[in-house]
Amino acid sequence: MRKYFVAGNWKMNGTKEEVSSLLSGVKQKVAAFSKINIAVFPSFVFLDQVSNELKGSNVDFGAQNLCEYEKGAYTGEVSGFMLKDFECDYVLIGHSERRHVFGESNEVTATKFMLAQANGLIPVLCVGETQQEREANQTDKVVFEQIEAIIAKAGIDALKNSIIAYEPVWAIGTGLTATPEQAQEVHAYIREMITKQDADLAENLIIVYGGSVKGSNAAEIFAKPDVDGGLIGGASLKPDDFATICEAAENLS
Ligand code: PEP
Repeated sequence: MRKYFVAGNWKMNGTKEEVSSLLSGVKQKVAAFSKINIAVFPSFVFLDQVSNELKGSNVDFGAQNLCEYEKGAYTGEVSGFMLKDFECDYVLIGHSERRHVFGESNEVTATKFMLAQANGLIPVLCVGETQQEREANQTDKVVFEQIEAIIAKAGIDALKNSIIAYEPVWAIGTGLTATPEQAQEVHAYIREMITKQDADLAENLIIVYGGSVKGSNAAEIFAKPDVDGGLIGGASLKPDDFATICEAAENLS
């Protein structure tokens, strides 16, 4: 039985004070939800603060990225080992902003995925097509290649302890949300492609949707059979909105 996962990607936002007030709002508003998994993904610099302030709550946390190398002379980078040392539970891998703003390839993404697991972190692998790719009917192909790159490098079993986030690039931060049917179609395709290699793994794999999820559309999207929650950007910076989205998942559980 898959558990809903709802996570907030805070991106490059916040000050120490804002993070504190965001955390206390979120903690208080989601405290009663017991059937779902909840996590926040702050910027690296806030990880220690977040770790301390979330102690004893039902909210987990992770980082937004990790370095493709393990340690050493990589100025400005942060390794998987460091993230584990800071008690992260999760790490985002291959977010569309990493892929499209910073040019991360499927190959680099696969290396990061493996390093995350090697350090005891649960990778949240983000996949999704651009507007142009959707218009050219390449959605399935793009998503297939992004996931297959992980399987080719790490093996199918590596997906066991991971989460996939389907995030169409055209829906991220744009206010354009995939319809519940569009989300379901791609989620079902992902589950189907993995079923061909390991049916049991595919059945248990958490696949969440991301792309302009709000309090007003979360319930409809999460109700689809292959949608197991959401990765939330903008709306996760407002405790009320984030809690409403979590509540939608809790009520469907
Ligand atoms: C994201 O950054 O992962 C995201 C889904 O952002 P937004 O909800 O703002 O579209």
